[in-house]
Amino acid sequence: MNDAQILRPSGQQALLIDGKAAAAAITARLGAEVARTGLKPGLAVVLVGADPASQVYVKSKGKMAHACGFHSVQVDLPADVSEEVLLGHVARLNADPAIHGILVQMPLPAHIDPARVIDAISPAKDVDGFHPLNVGRLASGATASALVACTPAGAMVLIEAAAAALGRSLRGMEVVVIGRSNIVGKPMAQLLLQRDMTVTIAHSRTVDLAAVVRRADVVVAAVGRPEMVRGVWLKPGAIVVDVGINRLVGEDGKSRLVGDVAFAETLDHVAAITPVPGGAGPMTIAMLMQNTFEAAKRAS
Ligand code: NAD
Repeated sequence: MNDAQILRPSGQQALLIDGKAAAAAITARLGAEVARTGLKPGLAVVLVGADPASQVYVKSKGKMAHACGFHSVQVDLPADVSEEVLLGHVARLNADPAIHGILVQMPLPAHIDPARVIDAISPAKDVDGFHPLNVGRLASGATASALVACTPAGAMVLIEAAAAALGRSLRGMEVVVIGRSNIVGKPMAQLLLQRDMTVTIAHSRTVDLAAVVRRADVVVAAVGRPEMVRGVWLKPGAIVVDVGINRLVGEDGKSRLVGDVAFAETLDHVAAITPVPGGAGPMTIAMLMQNTFEAAKRAS
């Protein structure tokens, strides 16, 4: 289904891919499904410590779950909680039939091993898609039974929407994913490979990144460096999804969010691009809701 709204502001060539509208359409559809089916998906979000950014993320996840008509639980634990106590909470949520999705907000304090915590989450409730079983299912192409990481899953929806709006098939196209993290770059590459694209993963050791990016019909930037990807690097007619979220503070002390791509430099020659904010960002939480709904459906 193509939920993303594609806008072409006057005076420029590039289509703007509206991730905010796409995310709103997905969550509205999930809310309607909950009302229609009577299914009550349950999402538990575990927050360790009081990191302000994590608190904001966790709050917005809970709010969105509530807006979709889900059962929503937040477990707040002190920053010095032991790994054993945290694992005890995960085990309790694993066993709770009212909970279908469990998310432990990262990053965790240094004394807790994130891999141990992720491994402890039931794969059927791993709505972040970080458990090795879900990672393996995605890598082996068993996406129907996997829960896929939310940010790349959301980016994939936007890429498909842009290709559809442009009347293009993704099959056989060259795509460059910049960044090889476990939460964005690697699962993104797997999803693109499953669309029969020719996938290159670029990273911090890539030689001549500009030349690598230049050959791509589709570019996904997930680096975390403000406006690193310059407009001249991009092939004319490319589809660009900018996952980066970087806060820049201006001389006036005011801060603004920018992506990994120098957005203004791209508008006269790429075919479609996601803005920051309002592009890939809002899709992550929508896909988290979709994963929770899917997990609840499978459990029933
Ligand atoms: P990360 O730091 O784990 O990984 C960054 C990757 O970029 C690494 O694989 C590294 O090899 C690569 N890299 C670093 N410098 C490079 C360079 N000069 N050239 C080429 N590659 C380089 O980051 P992440 O968690 O994957 O996140 C990436 C960006 O996406 C960040 O800005 C983050 O805020 C954003 N993000 C957004 C969402 C969302 O939209 N909800 C979710 C996750 C991440």
